[in-house]
Amino acid sequence: MSRLLHALSFDVEEYFHVANLRGRFARDDWDDVPSRIDVGMDAILEVLDRRDVRATFFFLGWMAERFPALVKRCVDGGHEIASHGYEHLFLSDQSPELLDADLARTEEALMAAGAPRPIGFRASTFTLTRETWWAFDVLVRRGYRYDSSVHPVRHPVYGVPDFEPGISRVETADGSIVEFPVATWPLFGRNLPMGGGGYFRLLPGPVTRAALGSLERRGRRAAVYLHPWEFDPEQPRQPAPLLKRFRHYVGLRQTLPRLDRMLRDFRFGTMRAALEDSGDLRG
Ligand SMILES: [Zn+2]
Repeated sequence: MSRLLHALSFDVEEYFHVANLRGRFARDDWDDVPSRIDVGMDAILEVLDRRDVRATFFFLGWMAERFPALVKRCVDGGHEIASHGYEHLFLSDQSPELLDADLARTEEALMAAGAPRPIGFRASTFTLTRETWWAFDVLVRRGYRYDSSVHPVRHPVYGVPDFEPGISRVETADGSIVEFPVATWPLFGRNLPMGGGGYFRLLPGPVTRAALGSLERRGRRAAVYLHPWEFDPEQPRQPAPLLKRFRHYVGLRQTLPRLDRMLRDFRFGTMRAALEDSGDLRG
């Protein structure tokens, strides 16, 4: 059993909110698509309970408004509630004013459901890049203490490949905020994404364990992120381009056993607990 406390997080959204399937489900139709959120959330909360682990749930405001009992269930389980924005808009499609309103609406929905005011944020689809750096100013002004939206990798749509892959502080005119990017693994001179998504499901378990072990030996904490729909192998299949289909559907049956083994072999807690443990967040 390792000693370093890593961070486990879930972005609470439906399978039809995912950017990969965006062309398939128009925003105005979301309310007409049957929800499958309970399938994934039941599996996640069961394994966390069994392993006695707390995690951070980045809720979409849209979800919190429609499923306040789910927010409350996470609060009652001792988990941290954080913000994933209101309706999964890319930061690149927003402005500082729009983001501010989007965050306010999400905070309202989370608190109405019984959560404390969130101190953490994760943007839709890692869209915090050099072009949307202004988002840090908005987050600091609204009182957020940490962000987990930068992905220090090379990717056609998102990523800041030269960003510090560990925990760091970002300065703004109104104060600073902690950035805790999802885990990457330095290999062959590049940062490979390994902290979640298709990579988590695709890479053999021993590879993920080796990557976590290697980060741990460097004294680096990993932020791992998953989604409820990744625990729902029976979700209705959608027509989409081959690569997008592959990314969305590969290894869905592996997510739960993989997570279970990871929680057995490594210490995980909320984003907040990991940052307090490292001394990056106080009180
Ligand atoms: Zn998301």
